[in-house]
Amino acid sequence: MSFLPLSSHRRITVKIGSALLVDRESGLKRDWLASLCADVAGLRAAGAEVLVVSSGAIALGRNVLGLGRRALKLEESQAAAAAGQIALAGAWSEELARKGLKAGQVLVTLGDTEERRRYLNARATISTLLKLGAVPIINENDTVATSEIRYGDNDRLAARVATMMNADLLVLLSDIDGLYDQPPAGNPDARFLPVVERITPEIEAMAGAAASELSRGGMRTKLDAGKIATQAGTAMLIASGTRPNPLAAVDRGARATFFQPSDTPVRGYKSWIAGQLEPAGQLVVDEGAALALQSGKSLLPAGVTSVSGAFSRGDTVAILDTEGREIGRGLIAYDHADAARIAGLRSANLAAVLGYQPRAAMIHRDDLVMQRG
Ligand code: GLU
Repeated sequence: MSFLPLSSHRRITVKIGSALLVDRESGLKRDWLASLCADVAGLRAAGAEVLVVSSGAIALGRNVLGLGRRALKLEESQAAAAAGQIALAGAWSEELARKGLKAGQVLVTLGDTEERRRYLNARATISTLLKLGAVPIINENDTVATSEIRYGDNDRLAARVATMMNADLLVLLSDIDGLYDQPPAGNPDARFLPVVERITPEIEAMAGAAASELSRGGMRTKLDAGKIATQAGTAMLIASGTRPNPLAAVDRGARATFFQPSDTPVRGYKSWIAGQLEPAGQLVVDEGAALALQSGKSLLPAGVTSVSGAFSRGDTVAILDTEGREIGRGLIAYDHADAARIAGLRSANLAAVLGYQPRAAMIHRDDLVMQRG
């Protein structure tokens, strides 16, 4: 197994699930948080930079506002997040201060990673925090995020942040110690996977089944996070956070699943495209076009067999093969109406159909990322 001690990583993003930080009855688990901050201080002393993506605002806010366990309406969860986040960030700040570290709260909404300009801005702010020696404590701004425009889960948010910040490791701490091929609870045959070289459809099928301790979505969003991270060259670890000092425990050999990063990662601008959470549309391409794309060519209208989605020029679209499998993503050079009009046409015929001088490519190769084959 190619996993190194945590401290040998240059920049680590650690994501913490709500259940680890918040007890339904007693609220914030201070002792556990203090132990995690000791781990963070240890990593920092060893030379690693650490960013934290902390869940728990809504869970803690329920407790603070006395909302109990009942299902919450959207505006109630938003209110819970408001009350919970202030307590959560305060606790992080206090516990890190006890270890001699400063904290900086960063609340993000979906557009902060999905829109290029805001992405660059968020990256600059977080870089500056790190440069000034603070530990960024990041969460979704749940108080203003509404259902259509939110990450919804901090696994994918953490992966977007980790790749945005070029972290070499993403650690997802939760109440399960890694990936099993079947539901582990009450199932002695469930096999634990210490290393995942690549997130294949078979691996994804395991996540769908291994749902006993977390919700189905729980492991699924972790694998989505794994795809975003590993294709950008960020390794990922799923480890249990249910013990004190969970990061030190990983270094002492506690069980965890390690997801190997791609050895040909996409970087920078292309990793931003590849990791986009919700492509705005889809293009199906024929076999010839798929082969041309794999060899590094741009996507020409002639190779496109169908177009769907209400995308605008510059949006990210998914490229599908004839079987409907996603083979890549790119920034489209046309609005959806024009893309649909020119799909399947040879370049020489475009100007007549469009009534203006066309761009040669539907997706230029500089704006295109193909998946690992
Ligand atoms: N942002 C949510 C919170 O702080 C948590 C989302 C998640 O659990 O993934 O309550």
